[in-house]
Amino acid sequence: MGERIPVILCIDVEPDPRRPDPTKAVPWRGFERLYPYLQELRPQMADATGEVARLNWFWRVDPQVETVYGSAEWALRRYEAEVAETVMEGDEHGVHPHAWRWDVALHGWVPDYGNPSWVEHCVVKSFMAFRSVFGKACESVRIGDRYFDDRVRGTLERLGCRFDLTVEPGEKPIRALAVREGYTGSVPDYRSVEMGPYRPRVEYFRERDEDRSEGLWIIPLTSGVMSERGLRWRRYLRRQWSSMGPIPTGYGTLRLWEPPELVQPAIEETLERLERPYLVFAIRSDVLLNPWWGGNCRKNLESLLRRARSRRLVFCTPRDLLPMLGLPAERLVATALDGALQPSIQHPRLAVPTGASLPVLPHGIGQSARPE
Ligand SMILES: [Zn+2]
Repeated sequence: MGERIPVILCIDVEPDPRRPDPTKAVPWRGFERLYPYLQELRPQMADATGEVARLNWFWRVDPQVETVYGSAEWALRRYEAEVAETVMEGDEHGVHPHAWRWDVALHGWVPDYGNPSWVEHCVVKSFMAFRSVFGKACESVRIGDRYFDDRVRGTLERLGCRFDLTVEPGEKPIRALAVREGYTGSVPDYRSVEMGPYRPRVEYFRERDEDRSEGLWIIPLTSGVMSERGLRWRRYLRRQWSSMGPIPTGYGTLRLWEPPELVQPAIEETLERLERPYLVFAIRSDVLLNPWWGGNCRKNLESLLRRARSRRLVFCTPRDLLPMLGLPAERLVATALDGALQPSIQHPRLAVPTGASLPVLPHGIGQSARPE
């Protein structure tokens, strides 16, 4: 038996459309569909790996959500039962700030990554919203539209963030994820970033600083090369089901909503290639709403479960991953606001019996009925 291989499955919990109608505060159906599916999968993950399975939820609590729903924390309160349940399971919760700005003149949403102070505002707002609900500092983040820069790194470190899971090795710089949406700035160049967790250099986040003993860990997503076999008919299928452009080719992020017959061999190659193998995948909460994406995602997760038996995969959190890769385990520094939660270092858990409310979370989480 080889070493255990950590697998971090990130779920970006977001409104279903990227540009929600600001006058319609509709529930997040994608999350409502995905949540029971993953909860059903969890015991199978534990069974396949022989260890407790933990997932990683990244919540949208940013100005776009505030504009549409009247409160940045809307989803954390609407889905308070799910939040409480997953906290009990030892899952990681973090934030997923997007930089959408409502442009009055355009009467539409603009992904405003070219506006550093707006990006900072969205990040800080998300961390504050997280703290107001969980009563502790947010430690894990995935920035929207795979955006990252040195200023964001600085902001995250000032906020006490410990784990970033945004960076996607091999991805080329592009103008925007969806140019037709309009945009400012650009999507960063990750071609020089290698896989493997690292502490970034202060002025150049793409490079590791071996001398740093504290600060943010960047844990890059899993990249690899998918075969181009059979791409033509798959492109046809994709056009039928998705507006996200062609199936990517070359070295880049391995996405669980792409065809499993392309993704799975690439995962195996990546595991063989890495000196310290690990896997990090991110899915959007609406992934099951699209039949093609959803079908692929289910099949990829099921294939991972089969692989878990032979490969000793362990579904875990960022904090679990570091020691498994022989990296320094994280110290948890309690702050005045953290007192109520007091998670243990390895497996944050709340001493709350199943079905009980979460008394430590202020502003009604676990206490009141869901707001409409
Ligand atoms: Zn997102």
